[in-house]
Amino acid sequence: MPAAEPEHTEKNIFTDAIKRLDSAAEYAQIELEAIERLKHPKAFIQVSIPVRMDDGSLRIFTGYRVRHDDTRGPTKGGIRYHPDVSLNEVKALALWMTCKCAVVGIPYGGGKGGIIVNPKELSPMELERLSRGFIGLIADFIGPDTDIPAPDVYTNARIMGWMMDEYSKIRRAYTPAVITGKPLSLGGSLGRDDATGRGAYYCIKELEKRRRWKPKDIRVAVQGFGNAGQHVAHLLHSDGYRIVAVSDSRGGIHRTQGFDIPSLIQIKNETRLVKAVYCDGSVCEAVESENVTNEQLLELDVDILIPAALENQITADNAPRIKAPVVIEVANGPITSDGDAVLNKKGTLVVPDILANAGGVTVSYFEWVQNRQGYYWQLEQVHQRLQEIMSREFHAIFDLMEEKKIDMRTAAYAHALRRIGQAIEASGTRRYFSNHSD
Ligand code: GLU
Repeated sequence: MPAAEPEHTEKNIFTDAIKRLDSAAEYAQIELEAIERLKHPKAFIQVSIPVRMDDGSLRIFTGYRVRHDDTRGPTKGGIRYHPDVSLNEVKALALWMTCKCAVVGIPYGGGKGGIIVNPKELSPMELERLSRGFIGLIADFIGPDTDIPAPDVYTNARIMGWMMDEYSKIRRAYTPAVITGKPLSLGGSLGRDDATGRGAYYCIKELEKRRRWKPKDIRVAVQGFGNAGQHVAHLLHSDGYRIVAVSDSRGGIHRTQGFDIPSLIQIKNETRLVKAVYCDGSVCEAVESENVTNEQLLELDVDILIPAALENQITADNAPRIKAPVVIEVANGPITSDGDAVLNKKGTLVVPDILANAGGVTVSYFEWVQNRQGYYWQLEQVHQRLQEIMSREFHAIFDLMEEKKIDMRTAAYAHALRRIGQAIEASGTRRYFSNHSD
């Protein structure tokens, strides 16, 4: 007899993602056949990447790239390097990208890629060979007008640089617009590095206005201290918010008075560890704090909880114990749909991933535009345009939530589906063809 599947296997993460489309469809004035189309990714590819390791041995890695839907434009989305990557996970992430790009109204569909690998076990040169090998295998599947990758979990600007270089060699043409999140010196955009965290920060600033918050009274816990988690914590801290807990994959720290976030970032970059310190220049001193696990961090008594690590962190099991009245999803998919149901019933306001972390792909769009124009923007321009988009879409979704008396995630999906639905309908649906049979 096959073993029973654990609740959140790779198998049902895509099914879970599809459920959310169904529940938002009734608020989106979208034809059902358009929803049906979105349940099936347009195309995907699986590749085996042979890599010569530093010790001379050969290892074969598995990689995927999924193009979910390109009705609104070329597909767009990151590439993650993680041991738990699976095809179903990448499909779910690609679907979320389709919705995310529609939420912020940028002219892209959704895509995603991943390699099953623990990048921490690879040397920098092995990582380079792996990244170039992957691009060699998917070069015909991607391109500036078809599918544009970017960074995601455990990939970064340097990796994007190698990938762009490899693609350009294959095409025999310098092609920076094939990938975003590149180093500045290789056609990257100013403001792309902190864009995901900054986008979430702009959402919180809009919520602050609606809720009349005083930053110094607001306690924040951040799960995940990678790119997005560090930047959102830093921006909130500079505004006077109290960041009382942070964690990385090894666990976290909690301190009621709050942490000095620049010191925590400095020590994390120097030692790769999350440590409770206060730094004055290069001298860091320990400050008193309590150690917490990642699970405990989620359940702390705080005003804002920011899951900024991986998916499936809040499920029906721990959702009843989540005390924060506001959750900002900086990671993709940190709350499962049954976890969501529990939080909605409790009245927790969840600012969903497809809005809260859309700053990254928005500035990726700016980067692609700049690459194609060959004309580069100032940082202020990037910030101003990002803020305009994030606040406009935040309020549109918040208003829809209040008007229809639905949760914010359903409102965000409905908002996205309206845009995707219009594009699908513009190319003809059953209603159109049956009314124009002559
Ligand atoms: N990986 C990021 C995301 O999930 C960014 C994608 C992009 O910039 O294309 O939104």
